[in-house]
Amino acid sequence: MSQDNNECIRVAIVGAGIVGCALAVSLNALDTDHKIAIDLYETAPELSEIGAGLNMWPRTWEIMKKIGLKDTLIPTFDHYPDLENRVVFEVRKSDQKNGYKVTDIMKEGGVLRIHRADLQRSLIKHLPLPDSGNPINSACTLHLSHRLVDYTTSDSGPTTLHFSNQPDQTCDILIGADGIKSTIRQLFLSRQPNPEDFQQYMDARWSGAVIYRGILAKDELAKVYPGHRALDHAGLMYTGKNKHTVVYPIAEKFINVVVTIHGKENDGKLWDGPWNTEVSATEFYEQFAGWDEEFQALIHCIKRPTKWAVQKLKNLPVYAKNRVFLMGDAAHAMVPHQGAGAGIGIEDAYTLAALLTHPSTTPGFTTEYIDKVASIYNAVRVPRAHSMSNGSSRQGYLYAFETEGFEQYKEGEDIPMDKMLESFREAGENWSWTATDPDDDTRKAVELLEGRA
Ligand SMILES: Cc1cc2nc3c(=O)[nH]c(=O)nc-3n(C[C@H](O)[C@H](O)[C@H](O)COP(=O)(O)OP(=O)(O)OC[C@H]3O[C@@H](n4cnc5c(N)ncnc54)[C@H](O)[C@@H]3O)c2cc1C
Repeated sequence: MSQDNNECIRVAIVGAGIVGCALAVSLNALDTDHKIAIDLYETAPELSEIGAGLNMWPRTWEIMKKIGLKDTLIPTFDHYPDLENRVVFEVRKSDQKNGYKVTDIMKEGGVLRIHRADLQRSLIKHLPLPDSGNPINSACTLHLSHRLVDYTTSDSGPTTLHFSNQPDQTCDILIGADGIKSTIRQLFLSRQPNPEDFQQYMDARWSGAVIYRGILAKDELAKVYPGHRALDHAGLMYTGKNKHTVVYPIAEKFINVVVTIHGKENDGKLWDGPWNTEVSATEFYEQFAGWDEEFQALIHCIKRPTKWAVQKLKNLPVYAKNRVFLMGDAAHAMVPHQGAGAGIGIEDAYTLAALLTHPSTTPGFTTEYIDKVASIYNAVRVPRAHSMSNGSSRQGYLYAFETEGFEQYKEGEDIPMDKMLESFREAGENWSWTATDPDDDTRKAVELLEGRA
């Protein structure tokens, strides 16, 4: 470790995606005692800022403000973050020639739409790195081109990290923020006393769905379809039997389009093959032949579609033990239909940061103490993530009329309005958490640590 200081708790974060960076920034924001030293390991040779659109709910925004990202993020949002009642999606039945509006899903504070690269860039900008100019409570050393391949724990001493083509390093606490294919999750589970019970959580499972994504320039859409509804709309959902598409603006000039084709019968199976494949535009468009004109105009702007088999993890019952903590997609990758995977990972990060910076967490902590922190993290984060993951799967099926009571309807057929409204009423209610206070969970964790709960 770069900061070989007995006075510090040495936290190794493996994975510098949104969640790993959010943990480093949260630790730095809360560590007023300056007792944490962070080593951030990333397999990539540089911190890249990629991806498409991302929904950030008021609940996650509260954490962003607490960790100091307010001023950097506000200019990147589609609207000023407040708690006004706003449209999240206008839902349109579109699997027929003349599509029509079903309902508006409204939420307190709506949802903030952001380009993922803008979020990642803001987090990276706030990392407490030596020359960053940021106030530094928890000094962070960034180790790029470090792919963790193994780790070795000892009963009470440091954990040793082994990298491909890099020297070993040590730490007091190891964080696996290494994404859905997490190496740390696989090692962690294989070291449980009964590893065979955890085999089912090792690898991601296919959700049965495939997604096609595109970012369209508004100018391009305006050329082929002047006055298109998506050019000036907060959020649209074009839906039909077994398929739904979300559409929303990002970064002023662009429109984010995510097309999902469900496959409930394959939910939970193992996917054999690459997760992403390029497909011909014709193959993509043909699946929506017969859908309404404004929807077809949108998807015809996606010229080089990529088909992506959507993966998720089964609900893992334990995220932390023996000085190792999993967070973000490494612990609970879920389908994207509640727009919440990154937000839940950021909550993991913020809650763990509150526990690790608590006055009772001191350098030289005992095994019993860190076991207690791990069990509190499990008690607070596991049920929350499970409920979000289950809710996200259900949400996708609600959008596409794949829940009980819709079996008799086929693509392109009319569905009674009251049935569709009922589906979207439930979908709206599933989002009852979006403007709640994230400190509820963090407070509960701290109260457990202090023996007050
Ligand atoms: C289509 C789609 C739409 C989504 N929409 C939303 C949304 O609207 N809102 C939302 O909140 N979430 C959304 N999500 C979910 C969100 O994208 C993820 O939950 C989030 O990005 C996970 O972040 P992470 O940091 O946990 O993992 P990752 O982003 O996967 O980062 C993991 C990092 O670890 C590194 N790494 C991996 N292995 C190693 C190793 N062995 N050693 C060192 N480094 C390693 C990787 O290079 C990577 O940088 C969506 C997901 C999808 C697929």
